[in-house]
Amino acid sequence: MKIDSLGYQDTPILPDSGFHVHDGLRPQPVVVTPGDGTVPPSDAVVLFDGSDLSQWESLDGGAAKWTVTDGWMVVVPKTGNIRTKQEFGSIQLHVEFASPTDVKGEGQGRGNSGVFLMGLYEIQVLDNYDNPTYPDGTVGGIYGQYPPMANAVRKPGEWNYYDIVWETPLFDGETLLRPAYVTVFLNNILLHHRRKLLGKTDHRVAPEYVPHGPTGPLMLQDHGDLVKFRNIWVRRLDPAES
Ligand code: MG
Repeated sequence: MKIDSLGYQDTPILPDSGFHVHDGLRPQPVVVTPGDGTVPPSDAVVLFDGSDLSQWESLDGGAAKWTVTDGWMVVVPKTGNIRTKQEFGSIQLHVEFASPTDVKGEGQGRGNSGVFLMGLYEIQVLDNYDNPTYPDGTVGGIYGQYPPMANAVRKPGEWNYYDIVWETPLFDGETLLRPAYVTVFLNNILLHHRRKLLGKTDHRVAPEYVPHGPTGPLMLQDHGDLVKFRNIWVRRLDPAES
């Protein structure tokens, strides 16, 4: 079959791409085999499949000290945050977490952890099931900046699913050229729709951007609570990195 027979060459030119409307010569989308909820899509970078922490390290560069059991990892309090050995720019991220079944503490002290994009920008993980806290620290919140549009967390012990689209900020030296944007779903509920970040996230501090490179690790937080994670994968969204 002639490839240009797929479409048209006598149609108007699209302004962004320079291709014709319905251009048969436009590059075909890459074929990706979808996952099924537990199986990642075929082009994903799998960061945790339930077997080991080989993709992860402690912040001192040593081995990650969290425990792997029965297909999930769990925070080992006071061993510190863990981060991926690989670095990423803009990504699609899937990560699942479960709050401790032994419910202890209140507010920020209950089932606290976090998903830090590029190691700097926290999407909060917290057991907010019947446990209110300051809104911008709610599960799914961009910590210290934006509350989620909904509290969609499941009961302690039940698995929650984050699906996140992260657009890295861009810097030219000390100058911010483009802020970061994030879209977050929790259990298929939209929490943030391409929200523009104010800077890196922090506790009791006004957010501001601190210039950094085009990539960074994914980091998970040790906040002293026995939060579990499983089924972690990303898809790189910047073609230059793939
Ligand atoms: Mg946290």
